[in-house]
Amino acid sequence: MKESYLGKIERAKKSICDAEYVLIGAGAGLSTAGGFEYSGEKFDKYFKDFEEKYGFKDMYSGGFYPYKTDEERWAYWSRYVYINRYLETTPNKAYSKLFELVKNKDYFVITTNVDHQFQIAGFDKEKLFYTQGDYGLFQCSVPCHNKTYDNKELIETMYFKQKNGLVPTELIPKCPVCGRNMEMNLRADDRFV
Ligand SMILES: [Zn+2]
Repeated sequence: MKESYLGKIERAKKSICDAEYVLIGAGAGLSTAGGFEYSGEKFDKYFKDFEEKYGFKDMYSGGFYPYKTDEERWAYWSRYVYINRYLETTPNKAYSKLFELVKNKDYFVITTNVDHQFQIAGFDKEKLFYTQGDYGLFQCSVPCHNKTYDNKELIETMYFKQKNGLVPTELIPKCPVCGRNMEMNLRADDRFV
């Protein structure tokens, strides 16, 4: 007899409960399953001015737009990171459910997701390997050294101080070692730390 969908879920839950160790591999689908969307309500609420000026229609495309100046680029990124990483503190439902299943287990997570949702849901940072970076971190753009930096304070300042789609020039993040521009710690090319 063919197993029902709910039967499959119950069986999966049971095998997690019975397991001694759990290794989790997670991609973008997990965030989408919990309700995250790059377009729609959130984009319309926070990025109307960018849509009018540059023509993109979702938050993902906005990250790849070839802005002419650093002031424009950081206006976009600081708003994007502030909204998606710091303003939203309610855990994504899919992550909370997964955490409930494994929290008392010996688990480890490998993920391509950069949205920090594992930490927000309660997963132990020491048990996470986020292979593509994290919205909450900066690195040197060169990079002249292999260190990442928490960006909360700088992101918030750029978010609140931006005007007409530009951040003030003096707020553009600079590397504390070589003085060149900082960059989001996201895997885009071989400069990723
Ligand atoms: Zn540097």
